[in-house]
Amino acid sequence: MKKIVVLGSTGSIGKNTLEVARNLKDKFQVVGLSSNSRWELLAEQVEEFKPRYVALCDGELAKKLQQRFQGTHPEMLAGNNCLQEMVLNCNADIVVSAVVGAVGLPAAIAAIERGKTLALANKESLVMAGHIVMSLAKKDQILPVDSEHSAIFQSLRSGKSCEVKRVIITASGGPFCDYPADKLPDVKPAQALKHPTWQMGQKITIDSATLMNKALEIIEAKWLFGLTAEQIDVVIHPQSIIHSMVEFCDGSVIAQMGSPDMKVPIQYALTYPERSPLRVKGFDLPALGSLTFKKPDAEKFPALRLGYQVAREGGTTGATLNAANEVAVQAFLDGQIKFTEIAMYVEKVISHHHFIKNPCLEDILAADAWARQEMKKCLI
Ligand code: NAD
Ligand code: MG
Repeated sequence: MKKIVVLGSTGSIGKNTLEVARNLKDKFQVVGLSSNSRWELLAEQVEEFKPRYVALCDGELAKKLQQRFQGTHPEMLAGNNCLQEMVLNCNADIVVSAVVGAVGLPAAIAAIERGKTLALANKESLVMAGHIVMSLAKKDQILPVDSEHSAIFQSLRSGKSCEVKRVIITASGGPFCDYPADKLPDVKPAQALKHPTWQMGQKITIDSATLMNKALEIIEAKWLFGLTAEQIDVVIHPQSIIHSMVEFCDGSVIAQMGSPDMKVPIQYALTYPERSPLRVKGFDLPALGSLTFKKPDAEKFPALRLGYQVAREGGTTGATLNAANEVAVQAFLDGQIKFTEIAMYVEKVISHHHFIKNPCLEDILAADAWARQEMKKCLI
């Protein structure tokens, strides 16, 4: 039995993780659950999985949850540091980081320092501080949950790392792949929130529409697999059947495929290096008819260029990009800025940030705070 903690259990990845755990009850025991504010769903999850620890960031709501479970099992944690506290206190083997945004970084570092396996969906922590996170981690201590990175991780088992020529990350292209570029400034949040192939949280859905998600994934791949920016290519593949590929030095290209379902990469991260049965939609190539591919349009989606810039520069640029993007996405959802202004303002903030080549964690957090302030100035 492996003990698992799910940070962000009420989100899209969190709920899928619990479905995997529910189906593999003989293999996994859930010992910790957390949410930012969705206390009623969290309460249902606590009733079902009976974890020893529960964390709810919102202190007021945490009181309600506490009343609900008065005199019974879970130990309640609340407030800003509750994720790290849970990671440090609970006796888990695997920490699943399924929270969204920069808030995931301290918990990811705590998990690695405590020697836990980190099943990582929270790509933002690698985008911000990949050099720190990876330098602390042992081989295979971080297992990717992001479908593209799980695909690369699985494909890499076909050869040695010194035999890798490049990786090819696939992208669905998002809802505006074939949308006229001159109409992009006027798209509304409701249009951007309609993703063609994946059901996800709001932030990553907007990131997918701007292709900022692919930018974050380029940076994530660089750190996870020790690649240069030049070894990472992106190809648009609207059907989301090939989840990514690795090209080896002999010209062999190994791809990982399957119906788009996040339970597949989540379960692989939990059961690695083994596989367990999982009920997924049938893989029916004749029914699909064709798989198509095209080059991404970096003019129309400038976020992609920013991903390569960060992958080349490193330093504080990743934390700056991530923080500026988090604020910009929220501003777009709140109707404060236009869709195309997200990447435009992120680029502006990056362009005049104080670059540090080898930042420590404090430098990273300072760059994050500065970028949030700078982005807010763009909104006035
Ligand atoms: P979501 O919005 O559905 O869920 C986010 C979870 O994080 C929720 O449980 C929420 O309560 C918690 N959370 C939010 N803000 C918090 C805060 N300040 N403090 C503590 N907890 C907080 O998001 P999601 O789609 O599940 O994505 C989660 C992460 O996984 C993101 O980093 C995303 O990029 C990554 N990811 C998601 C998918 C997907 O299919 N959804 C695929 C690949 C990677
Ligand atoms: Mg992905």
